[in-house]
Amino acid sequence: ARILQISSKLKSTWYSSSSFSSSLPTVKLFIDGKFVESKSDKWIDIHNPATNEVIGRVPQATKAEMDAAVASCKRAFPAWADTSVLSRQQKEIAKLITLEQGKTLADAEGDVFRGLQVVEHACSVTSLMLGETMPSITKDMDLYSYRLPLGVCAGIAPFNFPAMIPLWMFPMAMVCGNTFLMKPSERVPGATMLLAKLLQDSGAPDGTLNIIHGQHEAVNFICDHLDIKAISFVGSNQAGEYIFERGSRHGKRVQANMGAKNHGVVMPDANKENTLNQLVGAAFGAAGQRCMALSTAILVGEAKKWLPELVERAKNLRVNAGDQPGADLGPLITPQAKERVCNLIDSGAKEGASILLDGRKIKVKGYENGNFVGPTIISDVKPNMTCYKEEIFGPVLVVLETETLDEAIKIVNDNPYGNGTAIFTTNGATARKYSHLVDVGQVGVNVPIPVPLPMFSFTGSRSSFRGDTNFYGKQGIQFYTQLKTITSQWKEEDATLSSPAVVMPT
Ligand code: NAD
Repeated sequence: ARILQISSKLKSTWYSSSSFSSSLPTVKLFIDGKFVESKSDKWIDIHNPATNEVIGRVPQATKAEMDAAVASCKRAFPAWADTSVLSRQQKEIAKLITLEQGKTLADAEGDVFRGLQVVEHACSVTSLMLGETMPSITKDMDLYSYRLPLGVCAGIAPFNFPAMIPLWMFPMAMVCGNTFLMKPSERVPGATMLLAKLLQDSGAPDGTLNIIHGQHEAVNFICDHLDIKAISFVGSNQAGEYIFERGSRHGKRVQANMGAKNHGVVMPDANKENTLNQLVGAAFGAAGQRCMALSTAILVGEAKKWLPELVERAKNLRVNAGDQPGADLGPLITPQAKERVCNLIDSGAKEGASILLDGRKIKVKGYENGNFVGPTIISDVKPNMTCYKEEIFGPVLVVLETETLDEAIKIVNDNPYGNGTAIFTTNGATARKYSHLVDVGQVGVNVPIPVPLPMFSFTGSRSSFRGDTNFYGKQGIQFYTQLKTITSQWKEEDATLSSPAVVMPT
């Protein structure tokens, strides 16, 4: 019923309740400028994570539908690539994110806002699209390059940022002159559909963006299709490494942002009040379902005495359905995700760690069927424990202790992931040493979740990233374009060649 509260006029274009026998709303495909009902006989349920009620169904697009989507991108590409670069620029989504994904409304608004920042940046991208020129490289000869689109590009997105991550992909690709095939996460398809509607309303020609739904078959289709030139993937390592390898094997560019284990190093000279609040916010916000969640704390020296206060602050967070006022964290995405997180907490207890705060048994009034886990803090954790080695992706903070900064740096650098990290200190030299020695893509100094703004790039490294060029910013433009160099010679009439030039020009 609550889905009907989402602007019914907008919703009806991409969510329909008419065609499915069970009368559950179904998500349409977006093909060639039309929101169309899939003819698939394979459908995936979409759940509200706060209640586990089925709120709709998303199709696994048929081969014919996926082919039609790529063909539409391909048809639209020549005219789009030729459209002038200047004319390529041009609180319902948040509600829908809370319904399908579970995060709090305020956090969902942040999801949309951070994505729109990328769109704004994409609208001012012309200077990054410039090629290079060098006049008079030899007599009468000039050399210049153009940055040109690749053709049809594709995006495969995860569930945890239903708006922001698709917005890292198709706006950047499209302003570069590419057409785009998007496959949102099958668990949260709604935000992408609404974004497509807004894009269409803003004048994007039919075919410049197409949307298919599905799981493995759709992913394999994208990796194998010869008309698709590049794939942007964000999600788990299991899927990302597979897509990187399969897509690369078929000659495509692939950029894959993957899993994380982000460490917050707390020095004893840090501003205690700020640090504890920042740690708690960054560990438990979005129920820990952020690739930049600060899921591991390393307390250095005397900072280990702050642990009881850390626990107190985490205890005070309010767990509730995302649309309830005052909720600090919502449910996990699925019952399976909850089970996995609880099993990892169990493993900590079995392997000798201490569960200082235990969210496994939490009950949320009115949402007894939801996938809730309360804030959980595991201390006395050692690097060989399962709860340290695995990405938990839930509201769980694991805490390690060291005597020195050097030991902390070693732990961070020995961990295979390199997505984000933060140091909390009031000493500039300590911060500088940490920033320089730590082998992680995104470093925060007294900033717990250092996601770069769109004029920079998202720069996860090591096991958190596969590919050469990162998402958005200058790197994003490089990913979605190729260079063409033109060497041209214009001689005056009286300077014609008198004989064939048979040696390599020097
Ligand atoms: P996921 O890998 O399960 O799903 C991502 C996409 O891949 C979906 O569209 C899904 O349909 C597809 N997919 C899933 N399993 C697949 C498989 N085995 N083969 C082929 N395709 C598959 O990820 P998720 O659970 O939706 O998202 C959570 C993960 O994403 C976490 O690991 C998180 O750290 C990561 N993440 C990373 C970043 C980043 O920028 N580094 C950002 C957000 C999320």
